[in-house]
Amino acid sequence: MAVIKIYLYGEEVLRQKALPVEKIDDGVRELIRNMAETMRQASGVGLAAPQVGDSRRVIVAEVSQENSGLIALINPVIVESSGTSEFEEGCLSLPGISAKVKRAAEVVVEGLTPDGKQVRNKYTGLLATVIQHEVDHLEGILFVDRLGFLGRSALSFKLRSLARANKV
Ligand SMILES: [Zn+2]
Repeated sequence: MAVIKIYLYGEEVLRQKALPVEKIDDGVRELIRNMAETMRQASGVGLAAPQVGDSRRVIVAEVSQENSGLIALINPVIVESSGTSEFEEGCLSLPGISAKVKRAAEVVVEGLTPDGKQVRNKYTGLLATVIQHEVDHLEGILFVDRLGFLGRSALSFKLRSLARANKV
Protein backbone atom coordinates (compact mmCIF):
# COMPACT_ATOMS: atom_id res chain seq x y z
CA MET A 1 0.00 0.00 0.00
CA ALA A 2 1.14 3.48 -0.71
CA VAL A 3 -0.05 7.00 -0.20
CA ILE A 4 -0.38 8.58 -3.62
CA LYS A 5 -0.50 12.15 -4.87
CA ILE A 6 -3.84 13.94 -4.65
CA TYR A 7 -4.57 16.18 -7.64
CA LEU A 8 -5.89 19.61 -6.81
CA TYR A 9 -8.46 22.04 -8.17
CA GLY A 10 -7.23 23.49 -11.44
CA GLU A 11 -5.75 20.24 -12.69
CA GLU A 12 -7.34 18.89 -15.85
CA VAL A 13 -7.91 15.29 -14.70
CA LEU A 14 -10.52 16.50 -12.18
CA ARG A 15 -12.64 17.82 -15.06
CA GLN A 16 -12.48 14.74 -17.26
CA LYS A 17 -15.27 12.20 -17.46
CA ALA A 18 -13.78 8.99 -16.08
CA LEU A 19 -13.87 5.78 -18.12
CA PRO A 20 -15.50 2.54 -16.97
CA VAL A 21 -13.22 -0.18 -15.64
CA GLU A 22 -13.33 -2.98 -18.22
CA LYS A 23 -11.59 -5.66 -16.21
CA ILE A 24 -11.05 -5.84 -12.47
CA ASP A 25 -7.47 -7.01 -12.15
CA ASP A 26 -4.71 -6.72 -9.57
CA GLY A 27 -3.90 -3.25 -10.89
CA VAL A 28 -7.41 -2.05 -10.04
CA ARG A 29 -7.27 -3.69 -6.62
CA GLU A 30 -3.91 -2.06 -5.94
CA LEU A 31 -5.36 1.31 -7.00
CA ILE A 32 -8.20 0.78 -4.49
CA ARG A 33 -5.80 -0.13 -1.66
CA ASN A 34 -3.70 2.94 -2.41
CA MET A 35 -6.77 5.17 -2.60
CA ALA A 36 -8.00 3.87 0.78
CA GLU A 37 -4.59 4.48 2.34
CA THR A 38 -4.37 7.96 0.81
CA MET A 39 -7.90 8.87 1.98
CA ARG A 40 -7.19 7.73 5.54
CA GLN A 41 -3.83 9.44 5.71
CA ALA A 42 -5.50 12.70 4.61
CA SER A 43 -8.38 12.18 7.10
CA GLY A 44 -10.87 12.19 4.24
CA VAL A 45 -14.19 10.35 4.10
CA GLY A 46 -14.12 9.61 0.38
CA LEU A 47 -11.90 9.63 -2.67
CA ALA A 48 -12.46 9.10 -6.38
CA ALA A 49 -9.80 7.77 -8.76
CA PRO A 50 -9.55 11.00 -10.82
CA GLN A 51 -8.38 12.69 -7.61
CA VAL A 52 -5.26 10.54 -7.72
CA GLY A 53 -4.82 11.16 -11.45
CA ASP A 54 -6.45 7.92 -12.64
CA SER A 55 -9.43 8.68 -14.86
CA ARG A 56 -11.36 5.47 -14.20
CA ARG A 57 -14.68 4.91 -12.46
CA VAL A 58 -13.51 3.84 -8.99
CA ILE A 59 -14.49 5.35 -5.65
CA VAL A 60 -13.75 4.65 -2.00
CA ALA A 61 -15.54 5.97 1.08
CA GLU A 62 -15.29 5.45 4.80
CA VAL A 63 -17.35 7.29 7.38
CA SER A 64 -16.23 6.15 10.79
CA GLN A 65 -19.02 7.94 12.70
CA GLU A 66 -21.48 5.81 10.72
CA ASN A 67 -19.35 2.64 11.06
CA SER A 68 -19.44 2.24 7.32
CA GLY A 69 -16.24 0.26 7.04
CA LEU A 70 -14.35 0.70 3.80
CA ILE A 71 -16.66 1.02 0.80
CA ALA A 72 -14.95 0.45 -2.56
CA LEU A 73 -17.06 0.56 -5.70
CA ILE A 74 -16.11 0.10 -9.32
CA ASN A 75 -18.31 1.59 -12.06
CA PRO A 76 -20.84 2.87 -9.48
CA VAL A 77 -24.20 4.11 -10.75
CA ILE A 78 -26.81 5.91 -8.67
CA VAL A 79 -30.02 4.16 -9.70
CA GLU A 80 -32.42 5.74 -7.22
CA SER A 81 -32.37 8.87 -5.10
CA SER A 82 -34.89 10.46 -2.80
CA GLY A 83 -35.35 13.21 -0.23
CA THR A 84 -33.00 16.12 0.35
CA SER A 85 -30.31 16.75 2.90
CA GLU A 86 -27.60 19.28 3.34
CA PHE A 87 -24.13 18.75 4.72
CA GLU A 88 -21.08 20.97 4.93
CA GLU A 89 -18.79 19.45 2.32
CA GLY A 90 -15.12 19.67 1.66
CA CYS A 91 -12.89 17.89 -0.78
CA LEU A 92 -9.31 16.66 -0.61
CA SER A 93 -8.80 18.29 -4.02
CA LEU A 94 -10.00 21.68 -2.74
CA PRO A 95 -8.05 22.20 0.48
CA GLY A 96 -9.32 25.00 2.70
CA ILE A 97 -12.72 25.22 1.02
CA SER A 98 -16.05 24.02 2.37
CA ALA A 99 -19.70 24.82 1.82
CA LYS A 100 -23.16 23.44 2.44
CA VAL A 101 -24.42 21.39 -0.49
CA LYS A 102 -27.97 20.12 -1.03
CA ARG A 103 -28.17 16.55 -2.25
CA ALA A 104 -30.47 13.54 -2.10
CA ALA A 105 -30.89 12.17 1.42
CA GLU A 106 -30.95 8.58 0.30
CA VAL A 107 -29.42 6.85 -2.71
CA VAL A 108 -29.35 3.34 -4.10
CA VAL A 109 -26.10 2.54 -5.87
CA GLU A 110 -25.19 -0.34 -8.11
CA GLY A 111 -21.60 -1.24 -8.85
CA LEU A 112 -18.91 -3.86 -8.56
CA THR A 113 -16.80 -4.77 -5.55
CA PRO A 114 -13.02 -5.32 -5.84
CA ASP A 115 -13.85 -9.06 -6.15
CA GLY A 116 -15.99 -8.34 -9.19
CA LYS A 117 -19.25 -9.01 -7.40
CA GLN A 118 -22.26 -6.95 -8.53
CA VAL A 119 -23.84 -5.16 -5.57
CA ARG A 120 -26.82 -2.88 -4.97
CA ASN A 121 -26.57 -0.85 -1.77
CA LYS A 122 -28.67 1.81 -0.11
CA TYR A 123 -26.91 4.73 1.60
CA THR A 124 -28.36 7.36 3.91
CA GLY A 125 -27.08 10.19 6.06
CA LEU A 126 -23.57 11.52 5.54
CA LEU A 127 -22.67 8.40 3.62
CA ALA A 128 -25.30 9.20 0.97
CA THR A 129 -23.72 12.62 0.53
CA VAL A 130 -20.20 11.19 0.33
CA ILE A 131 -21.21 8.65 -2.32
CA GLN A 132 -22.92 11.33 -4.43
CA HIS A 133 -19.88 13.60 -4.07
CA GLU A 134 -17.55 10.80 -5.23
CA VAL A 135 -19.76 9.72 -8.15
CA ASP A 136 -19.82 13.40 -9.24
CA HIS A 137 -16.01 13.28 -9.46
CA LEU A 138 -16.34 10.53 -12.08
CA GLU A 139 -18.27 13.01 -14.23
CA GLY A 140 -15.74 15.78 -13.68
CA ILE A 141 -18.14 17.57 -11.32
CA LEU A 142 -16.88 19.18 -8.10
CA PHE A 143 -19.00 20.11 -5.08
CA VAL A 144 -18.52 23.80 -5.74
CA ASP A 145 -20.32 23.31 -9.07
CA ARG A 146 -23.40 22.36 -7.04
CA LEU A 147 -23.54 25.67 -5.21
CA GLY A 148 -25.87 28.46 -6.18
CA PHE A 149 -24.57 31.74 -7.53
CA LEU A 150 -24.16 33.29 -4.08
CA GLY A 151 -22.38 30.27 -2.66
CA ARG A 152 -19.95 30.19 -5.55
CA SER A 153 -19.40 33.94 -5.42
CA ALA A 154 -18.45 33.69 -1.77
CA LEU A 155 -15.73 31.18 -2.67
CA SER A 156 -14.60 32.71 -5.95
CA PHE A 157 -11.46 34.33 -4.58
CA LYS A 158 -10.29 31.11 -2.91
CA LEU A 159 -11.14 29.08 -6.01
CA ARG A 160 -9.25 31.41 -8.30
CA SER A 161 -6.19 31.27 -6.04
CA LEU A 162 -6.30 27.47 -5.91
CA ALA A 163 -6.67 27.18 -9.68
CA ARG A 164 -3.79 29.58 -10.25
CA ALA A 165 -1.56 27.61 -7.90
CA ASN A 166 -2.33 24.25 -9.51
CA LYS A 167 -2.66 24.99 -13.18
CA VAL A 168 0.07 23.19 -15.08
ZN1 LIG B 1 -14.04 15.47 -3.59
